Amino acid sequence: MAEFEPLQDEITAETLVVGGGISGITTAIESAEVGRNVILVERKPFIGGRVMSTNQYFPKLCPPSCGIEINLKRLRGTDKVRVLTLAEIESVTGEPGNYQVTIKLNPRFVNDKCTLCGECEKVCEIERDNELNYGLDKTKAIYLPHMMAYPHRYVVDPEYAGDERMKKCVEACAYDAIELDMQPRTITATVKAVVWATGWKPYDATKIDNLGYGRIPNVVTNVVMERMASESGPTQGKILRPSDQKEITKIGFVQCAGSRDENHLPYCSAVCCLASMKQATYIREQYPEADVHMFYIDVRSPGRFEDFYVRVQEDEKFHFHRGKVGKITEDPSTGNVILEAENTLTGEINKVECDMAVLATGMVPTAVDEPPPLETPVDEFGFIIADGGRGVIGTGSALRPMDVAASIQDATGAALKAITVEARR
Ligand SMILES: Cc1cc2nc3c(=O)[nH]c(=O)nc-3n(C[C@H](O)[C@H](O)[C@H](O)COP(=O)(O)OP(=O)(O)OC[C@H]3O[C@@H](n4cnc5c(N)ncnc54)[C@H](O)[C@@H]3O)c2cc1C
Repeated sequence: MAEFEPLQDEITAETLVVGGGISGITTAIESAEVGRNVILVERKPFIGGRVMSTNQYFPKLCPPSCGIEINLKRLRGTDKVRVLTLAEIESVTGEPGNYQVTIKLNPRFVNDKCTLCGECEKVCEIERDNELNYGLDKTKAIYLPHMMAYPHRYVVDPEYAGDERMKKCVEACAYDAIELDMQPRTITATVKAVVWATGWKPYDATKIDNLGYGRIPNVVTNVVMERMASESGPTQGKILRPSDQKEITKIGFVQCAGSRDENHLPYCSAVCCLASMKQATYIREQYPEADVHMFYIDVRSPGRFEDFYVRVQEDEKFHFHRGKVGKITEDPSTGNVILEAENTLTGEINKVECDMAVLATGMVPTAVDEPPPLETPVDEFGFIIADGGRGVIGTGSALRPMDVAASIQDATGAALKAITVEARR
C-alpha cells in the first residue's frame, strides 16, 4: 500500500514525480514495477488530475473511474510509491543522480481514522465553491473531493480550519478523525531523478471577448460541459442550459476558441475536436431530437481517432460548419445565443441560433505560472522542452497538449528516462 504521510523528515527514493495526474501516476507505477522507489507529489487532496473531471473519455467513452481504478489497484499493490497529496515542492537543488528536494506537506485536518461516515459533513454549516465543478455548485467546508478520491478520505478547506463553526464537525466525529490544529510540515527528499508531470489548465475564456464567455450566461467552456454531463456534476449529469435550466434542442460547439489564434494561443491543443465530438454524444444521448452544430477551421482527429469522427458524421443531427466563429451575441428575449462565422470556402456568413454554445478552449501548461526548477528549458508558451539538455524530465501534457493515451505512452518513456538519468550524466 502506498504511503500518504511520511513519518520521517528526511526520505529517499530513486525517482521523484511531481504531479499526480495520469502522466505522473503512470511514471510512478511504471518505475515502481521495475523496482524503483518513488515519491509522487500532488498538490491537490487527491490524485488523478484533470481526467477525473471528465465525464467520459474518448475514444471508448468510458468514465474516468475505469482508468483510475486500474491504476489505483496497481498503486495499492506496491509499497514502492509514496503518495504525498496536498504537497508542494519548495526547492530542488543538485544534479542528476543526487537531487535534494524540499517538500511542504499542507494539512488535511483529517487523519487516517476517517471512516467516510459523513457525519461531519452533515452538521457542517459552511459551504464553499466546488472547484471540481468549476464553482457551479458548493461543497461543505469538510468534504470528500469525489467518490473515487484517492486517498479516500475527507479534507477540510484550509480557509475554514480556524473557523469556530468547524467545532461542530469535530464533535460529530465519533472516531477523533478531525484535527483542526494540524500544521504544515516541511520534509526533505534525496532522489536520483526528478520528473515534472504538472499538466495543463484551461485557457482563460474571458480573454476571448468576442465569444461572450462570462458575459452571456449560455456560453460555457468545454471543461464546464464535462462537469455538466457528469453524475457528480452540478445537475447530477442532466445537461441543462445555465440561464434557465431549459432542456437542449440546439447546441453550438465553437472549435479553436482562442486556439490557433495569434491573439491567444497560436498552437492547436490536439484534443479539442475530439472532446467536442465526444460532448456532442452526451447531448445526443440525453436529447435524441436535439441538433448539434459544430463550427471548425478543420477537424483534427489523428490516427485511429478518425473512426470516432466518422461515427459522429453518420449522425444526421450532427451538422458541421466550416468557419471559425467570430462573434457570439445573445437574444435577451429568449436567452438564445447566435453564433456567427464566415464559411472559409464560400465566403458566406453563417448565423446559427442555439440554446447554448460550448467553447472548445485549449490547454495551457500549468508550468506557465510556475516554471520547473533547475533552469529547465520551456518554450514560449510554457511547455517543457523534452530533451532540453538540462533540468528535470518533463512528461505528459506539461510537454505539449496530449490525450490520455499519448500521455500514458510519454509517461512510460519518462520512467525509463529517470532510470537512465545517471548514465546520461
Ligand atoms: C475539454 C477536454 C476534454 C478532454 N477529454 C479527453 C478525453 O475524452 N480523452 C482523452 O484521451 N483526453 C482528453 N483530454 C485530455 C486529457 O485531459 C489530458 O490528456 C490529461 O489530463 C493529461 O494528463 P496529465 O497528467 O499530463 O495532466 P493533468 O491531468 O493536468 O494532471 C497534472 C497533475 O499535476 C498536479 N500539479 C500541477 N502542478 C503541480 C505542482 N506544482 N505540484 C504538485 N502537483 C501539481 C495537478 O494538480 C494535476 O493533478 C481532454 C482535454 C480537454 C481540454
